[in-house]
Amino acid sequence: MSHTDPADHDEAADAAGGPDAPGGDALAPEVPADDSMLVTARGIRKSFGANEVLRGVDLEVRRGEVVVLIGPSGSGKTTVLRSLNGLETPDAGSILVDGGPSIEFGAPVPKATRFALRDRSAMVFQHHNLFPHMTVLQNVIEGPTQVQRVPRATAIAEAEALLDRVGLAEKRDAYPFELSGGQQQRVGIVRALALKPMLLLFDEPTSALDPELVGEVLAVIKELAEEGWTMVIVTHELGFARQVADEVLFLDGGVVVEQGPPKELFTKPKEERTRRFLDRILRPLD
Ligand code: ADP
Ligand code: MG
Repeated sequence: MSHTDPADHDEAADAAGGPDAPGGDALAPEVPADDSMLVTARGIRKSFGANEVLRGVDLEVRRGEVVVLIGPSGSGKTTVLRSLNGLETPDAGSILVDGGPSIEFGAPVPKATRFALRDRSAMVFQHHNLFPHMTVLQNVIEGPTQVQRVPRATAIAEAEALLDRVGLAEKRDAYPFELSGGQQQRVGIVRALALKPMLLLFDEPTSALDPELVGEVLAVIKELAEEGWTMVIVTHELGFARQVADEVLFLDGGVVVEQGPPKELFTKPKEERTRRFLDRILRPLD
């Protein structure tokens, strides 16, 4: 992690954890990776007014797999994540998560079905979206206690274990404004984990951070990948993507232009559009 501040190094290493790290396997997913399909999205279409943003996106994610979405601004990456999370309702296509009902869009989708989709995943946003008037602990237990009706004592114990694993145990009673951007974003990740989702969605989780804070957040996400979490990550951190991704999808103009393992897609892109995009990121001044 070349971006990690040396002063923060031990903390980042703690966050990256190991078998002996405090908190045991607090970062392990509820459902172990077994290679079966967790997400199958087919032909997802979405327009905003006359703007056709997604033009038939297919995406498959196996349990324990990390899929990275890359692509230019406006290519529809966020809309894909929001569709998977039930925050956006596609105009057409289908989404199936964890062998639940295959949701066919186009016809009205019952509210209960949409909520079932939303419950299966948790999203980490570019900006952490923590409640400013709540402490770190209150932010983390809000979802479990208010939405999932987890007993307060249980939620607190689980939140403390998670905070410990990302090196933030001592920030339990701090308010968001007292934390660095990197710490806030780590709390945002813990808040998503506390919901015990099957699928974690990250929308440019480090793009709002000062460069020296990027490493500590990527270290936590990398640890989650190693623990077997199933994740879809939108990021422009290509070095990180190369380390964690099983599959990379390049999105442009609302379609998946090309996809493949990072080693292939980053070094031998087949499509000219992919090559041009990678060049712009890797050599912005050329
Ligand atoms: P990306 O995340 O790749 O930058 P987005 O999915 O955020 O792309 O957006 C793709 C396009 O959809 C953009 O042109 C954006 O302005 C438009 N868009 C996204 N959300 C909305 C919305 N709620 N209402 C209208 N237009 C939207
Ligand atoms: Mg976006």
